Amino acid sequence: MKILKFGGSSVASAERIKNVIEIVKTSLKKEKNIAVVFSAYQTVTDKLIATSHLAAKGNPIYLENLKELENKHLSIAKELISVSKQSSVIANIKFQLNELDDILHGVFLIKELSLKTLDYILSFGERLSAYTISEALIDTKIPANFLDTRQLIKTDAQFGNARVNFELTNKNIQKYFAANKKLQIATGFIASTLENETTTLGRGGSDFTASILGAALNVKEIEIWTDVDGVLTADPRKVGNAFTVKHLTFDEAMELSHFGAKVIYPPTMQPAHAKGIPLRIKNTFNPTAEGTLISKKKIVNDFLIKGISSIDAISLVLVEGSGMVGVAGIAERIFSALATHHINVVLITQASSEHSICLAIPPRDEKKAKDAIEKEFKLELLEKQISEVKVENNFAIIAIVGENMQKTPGIAGRVFQALGKNGINIAAIAQGSSELNISVVISKKDEAKALNALHESFFLSKTKSLHLFLVGPGLIGKTFLTQLKNHQKKLANEFFTSVRVCGIINTKKMLVSNKGIPLDKWDSALASSSEESDLPAFVKSMKEFNLPNSIFIDCTASEDVVQYYLDVLSSNISVVTPNKRANTKSFLFYNKLRDTAAKHNVKFLYETNVGASLPIIGTIQDLVSTGDPITKIEGILSGTLSYIFNSFKSGRKFSSVVQEAREKGYTEPDPREDLNGKDVARKLLILARECGYQMELSDIKVENLIFPKARKVKTVKEFFGVLQENDDEFEKLRMKEEKDGRVLRYIAKLEKGKAEVSLQAIDRNHPFYFMSGSDNILAVHTLNYISSPLVIKGPGAGADVTAAGVFADVLRISNYLS
Ligand code: ADP
Ligand code: ASP
Ligand code: MG
Repeated sequence: MKILKFGGSSVASAERIKNVIEIVKTSLKKEKNIAVVFSAYQTVTDKLIATSHLAAKGNPIYLENLKELENKHLSIAKELISVSKQSSVIANIKFQLNELDDILHGVFLIKELSLKTLDYILSFGERLSAYTISEALIDTKIPANFLDTRQLIKTDAQFGNARVNFELTNKNIQKYFAANKKLQIATGFIASTLENETTTLGRGGSDFTASILGAALNVKEIEIWTDVDGVLTADPRKVGNAFTVKHLTFDEAMELSHFGAKVIYPPTMQPAHAKGIPLRIKNTFNPTAEGTLISKKKIVNDFLIKGISSIDAISLVLVEGSGMVGVAGIAERIFSALATHHINVVLITQASSEHSICLAIPPRDEKKAKDAIEKEFKLELLEKQISEVKVENNFAIIAIVGENMQKTPGIAGRVFQALGKNGINIAAIAQGSSELNISVVISKKDEAKALNALHESFFLSKTKSLHLFLVGPGLIGKTFLTQLKNHQKKLANEFFTSVRVCGIINTKKMLVSNKGIPLDKWDSALASSSEESDLPAFVKSMKEFNLPNSIFIDCTASEDVVQYYLDVLSSNISVVTPNKRANTKSFLFYNKLRDTAAKHNVKFLYETNVGASLPIIGTIQDLVSTGDPITKIEGILSGTLSYIFNSFKSGRKFSSVVQEAREKGYTEPDPREDLNGKDVARKLLILARECGYQMELSDIKVENLIFPKARKVKTVKEFFGVLQENDDEFEKLRMKEEKDGRVLRYIAKLEKGKAEVSLQAIDRNHPFYFMSGSDNILAVHTLNYISSPLVIKGPGAGADVTAAGVFADVLRISNYLS
């Protein structure tokens, strides 16, 4: 024999019920002897509860709810049952609905709703669904019988969550089934006391009913039919890439469901486990899928754990005091005080100092729990052995479950690592004594992020997902997005890295989406976005999304965006930027950025600040961290000035070379911003700071290549007009040096703590003599590189290489995640 149970999700509409009837028929062909348990139609139990509360408050709106419930039940019956048979079934349903109406009217009049009355009201949900479906089956020529399980399942009088008297219940069930051989269509969830008062088995209790019946009848298997392919590695509503677990032990299923996996009601495991009857979770919408088998067998799979579950509403009760140290029985007294008040303790931890005990409970029990503990420890509180009983709320619990983790070291470490890298704070941690689960209490707002981070770490260890927020899709930003679009597939398929852009903002508009923005048409989507550009709101959304591995990319050259870095880093979001502004503000700010990133376990990466994607900053950092002292740095760090002086040869006028550089897009719109040397000075400051010098921009001596008159003129056009006046002077200088075999180069130099950027004449023995195009070059002299410096040379400017450098920084963060 087999028991099949169909949950509310499987009987949400007449259409779905027809599908269920097909499954029952198929089952009957394979296994003649089955019994089927039904929940109330989906949302009916919730609606009955809400309606009862409205009535109890004297709110006449309850009648509207009641009408909806009536319509739902009648219309489903009409759709399921052929017209000729409808009248008696409809009459019966109406009769019951009238009774429900009367009871609710009573509640409305006396404005009182006891748990006992509520249980009675709720019983209509299961009674109506199972009755209607039994009639629908009879209508399709399947001899079936409606079974009201209140007559078989006997409980105590703890209404709302009654305890089963198994001795009596099992006898009742066995006797009944021995006498009734027809297909039984049973109500889930409901039972009754010895006095025949209606009780319920707790929310989600129809699963339990199936297990109670199955165990009493010693069936082969109990099938729980729902709307997902079994028990998944995590709640699919919270973790998009959760997948089905093929097999669980009873203990694993128990732990997962105890910690929030709604797919199966925790008490369900107990009767089946006691009899060793396997439970199988199946999908009504995908009946051929294998589902999940829950049995005694321990089957090892590829993963260290089986699943992750969570409870999103948790309060913590902290009992603290020096008088608790070494005193036996405190925890027991707390437990029994709470048990007396039916408060479910989800988790308990005790610091090894025994100075405090922390309990996790449902928020609705906060006050009850505090009062109960304070009452129990009245004396200790008076004598200050216990300093206080504190309640804190807005927490969530995440549990990592699996038998494999028994005696496997390093699981807790992995949990800490995954959460730490995402800046998620752990308020409490507990490991069940069976070593079947590790549970951590975290802030409620971090729940989804933690679930995803842990899921990725344990189940998709190869897969990493990054969430990007880009400010300033100008030339570099745009190029970066194109490069990313072209590589997205390859990254996902070959490097298991999913990169999603979840926000883009320019000076006019912004786009944010936690699902990601398709990169093939981001520009038109941004242009037509209804959201005006608002950087504070952009940052706020990014923080609220709270996605794991978020990266804020600043592709502007603006000081305004830099203001947000500290806030962003403090929100556990990494920053990647080619913008030099942050690193060239005061040394105080420079330090603060690094401290904040370190404190929050995130990255601040800016390889493209100097020399675009050339590995300049990384190399200097490596040299510094390996303890090879840098004695001197020299470099051509401006692609523009490199191009200008590499092209300034015999026969060319200085002004026309500048003009040409501008036309080729090498210079800033106003070339004076290159020629004044400030940009190079900023880069040198960044390198000097990397080398350990506490320098400010004002400490750098800068040679301005713009002669005084040209500095004063307003427009670029005027500037070119006066620039020609200076051509002769540049030509004289060039010829003088050329005669001695030297060329002109604009060089940044750091030596013995002195930093300077200036025009220099160098001979062919110097590594910067042979330069072409807009290449950058850097020569680093260290104690190890004493005879000849370490030279890094290559294209150091341009949108393509800079965007590639930004891309590399982003991927560096993904490597850090592995
Ligand atoms: P039913 O109406 O069939 O009793 P429930 O809504 O009670 O169904 O339970 C099924 C739901 O449980 C799924 O739709 C899913 O959203 C949720 N769920 C939560 N955690 C898990 C998990 N680990 N595996 C599968 N489903 C889960
Ligand atoms: N209908 C009940 C509930 O919603 C029982 C169940 O669905 O299992 O809690
Ligand atoms: Mg359920």
